[in-house]
Amino acid sequence: MEELNLVLLGPPGSGKGTQGEKLQEELRLPYYATGDILRAAVREGTDLGRAAKEFMDRGDLVPDELIVGMIAARIDSEEAADGFILDGFPRTAPQAEALAEKLEALGRALTVVLLIDVSDEEVVRRLGGRRTCVESGHVFHVEFNPPKQEGVCDIDGSELITRDDDKPEVIRHRLEQYQAKTAPLVEHYDGQGLLRRVDGAASPEDVCEEIRRTLATLRLEADEAI
Ligand SMILES: [Zn+2]
Repeated sequence: MEELNLVLLGPPGSGKGTQGEKLQEELRLPYYATGDILRAAVREGTDLGRAAKEFMDRGDLVPDELIVGMIAARIDSEEAADGFILDGFPRTAPQAEALAEKLEALGRALTVVLLIDVSDEEVVRRLGGRRTCVESGHVFHVEFNPPKQEGVCDIDGSELITRDDDKPEVIRHRLEQYQAKTAPLVEHYDGQGLLRRVDGAASPEDVCEEIRRTLATLRLEADEAI
């Protein structure tokens, strides 16, 4: 495979971020996590950040036109010449269409779409327990990764809060949005033969191992096709 243009798909809380960071290290490809990029923009108070904040606080999807421009510029950059890992994009059918058009204009195409499959119940358990440090965004979990002192970040001592989009009513809303707008992409990419499913209920290490196996199989298939 000459380049690896990879999309991570899955509900909020499926562990896409954890896997994306591992993949970034192992594959040495840039990792573009829409949520992280937007939250950084909000913290920095950029035009994009100000425009995106009101949608994010409600658990609504940030409008396509804001997101598409932001991602297209990164895909078209030198660092993404050998491939990229997308997380949180595309999230709607119009975004998927915009991505396909952008890649086609560059003479490229997606290599694989990895779906990390997790039930709604597991999503609520994972996200509802998440606590984020106000200063630097360090993330803890009341059940899986509790801080030494409740409500205080181990790393920089700042306050830990439940991020607005991790509040129960917002989690439910995010899941509804996922089902309505993102879940149809699973079928879309499956129809194109690009989709590979990974069981996201397993431990992060096991999920990572399954992703490695999936990518290795893809490489074999690509080599045989030459
Ligand atoms: Zn911190």
